[in-house]
Amino acid sequence: MEAPLTDIGKWPVLEALSKKLRVILDISHVSLGVVGSLTLKWSITRVLSHLHGDHAGGLKDLVTEAPHVPIYVSREHWEAFGKHPFYAGIQGCTPQHWPQDFAPNILEYSDHAVGPWKQSYNITSDQRVVAVDTPGHVPGHISLVVYGDNDDGTRTVYFLTGDATYGLDLLETEEPDGINDDPEMALQSLELIKEFARQTDLVVLPSHDVDTPRLLRERVAYKQNTQQAPATQVSSAMG
Ligand SMILES: [Zn+2]
Repeated sequence: MEAPLTDIGKWPVLEALSKKLRVILDISHVSLGVVGSLTLKWSITRVLSHLHGDHAGGLKDLVTEAPHVPIYVSREHWEAFGKHPFYAGIQGCTPQHWPQDFAPNILEYSDHAVGPWKQSYNITSDQRVVAVDTPGHVPGHISLVVYGDNDDGTRTVYFLTGDATYGLDLLETEEPDGINDDPEMALQSLELIKEFARQTDLVVLPSHDVDTPRLLRERVAYKQNTQQAPATQVSSAMG
């Protein structure tokens, strides 16, 4: 399964979410991306939650080796960081490692509501992978929602937080991280994630949580106000 992904660098595929959609979640470098395979041929889209150095690694390699792979970033984040590399460098980005003349695709809003978000960004045309705004850590930070198919015909909804939260314990206690750009907005983003998790069984996958591989592998739903349930597989028949 990893073979088709070698052209985008070092990020391991932790698990296939379905036969059609696969998520790359980088634990060590904390990158976030989506792979969509509609037929036997792989087509890959890379979505950046934000441009911090530990999330935007390997972009040069990606552009060099797989120039056909689109890279997406939110407009607000690009305006704040992408267009101002020097400022971005001060803020924890590594623009010296961005591709030459780096010009990623800008995500456009759709009116497709996702949980408490009235708007989202379609990553795949079938809206099985969408991005939602989770600002606060940085301007224009986004998270991914993935509707994955299970082998038994059920579906599991995954929420890839990026750096909206570093871990489920911090999400639970609603503690924004210490270096965020806008603590109040970061808190609002945490509240939206928790609201979504109340509406939908949600496997929440923080980038920096060492338990994320297990949460993904075992499809552990995020339960609020309790300890994480032990290894219960979560699925739903929702569309
Ligand atoms: Zn970050």
